[in-house]
Amino acid sequence: MNVLIAAFGFVLGACVGSFLNVCIDRLPKGRSLITPPSHCDACGNRLRGLALIPVVSYLWLRGRCRYCGAAIPWRILAVEVATGFLFAFVVATYGFDVQFLVLAFYTCLFLILAVIDLEYGLILNKITYPAIVISLILAPFWSSFGFLRAPFWENSMLQVFLSSLGGAGIYAIPFLLIVLFYPHGLGWGDVKMAVLIGLATGLPLVLVAMMIAFLSGGLVASFLLLLHLKRRKEAMPFGPFLSLGALVALFWGKDIITVYLRLWW
Ligand SMILES: [Zn+2]
Repeated sequence: MNVLIAAFGFVLGACVGSFLNVCIDRLPKGRSLITPPSHCDACGNRLRGLALIPVVSYLWLRGRCRYCGAAIPWRILAVEVATGFLFAFVVATYGFDVQFLVLAFYTCLFLILAVIDLEYGLILNKITYPAIVISLILAPFWSSFGFLRAPFWENSMLQVFLSSLGGAGIYAIPFLLIVLFYPHGLGWGDVKMAVLIGLATGLPLVLVAMMIAFLSGGLVASFLLLLHLKRRKEAMPFGPFLSLGALVALFWGKDIITVYLRLWW
């Protein structure tokens, strides 16, 4: 039964992922998400029938357009598969509940932000601003959805809301300092994304999001420097690491904090 539900979650996620690819392709260029319908970027032929089925079509056509043979970026498959697995995990853990809707929303949001930053070096205001507004509206209801936002104290609406505001403040401070005093490293987009993640995770889970983002970003940066794939002054998009931290905190933050506290007390 659980396997069936997870499989359904995967299929649903893969279909949503295929729409996320459209967002990733079109939002940075300011193009409409609805028209024109999906087409090959090289020859302009519209995708029909089998070519519209996520994951399967990519594998079936071996990553090439069926009309002109142009290579389809492997990112298309990666985003579909990643969304599929994340949705499968969320559905298997929470079932089809309001919790699923909330976590599915943030999964999509952080995937789009990560991939657009990776490919274009941009964290778009037209994504972060509405997402910050939505997160502010959701913030007081977090515990009503059934999440234990603040595991160590009461979860009244006011406290949960304050935990979100506190999370946003705590995450924004290090980024503000970096942007103001070391402007080559990060941009204002990173600050806005940190505010968004703080609102979504709240205190104390925002600490997990920060730790994972800085650790993974630091590790990858040192690795790239060691392999001479990146120059010292060269900026590296930080959005993917912010996203990784946010999703880990949302999915496993409470477990990580519990284990951490058990180690020390
Ligand atoms: Zn083509």
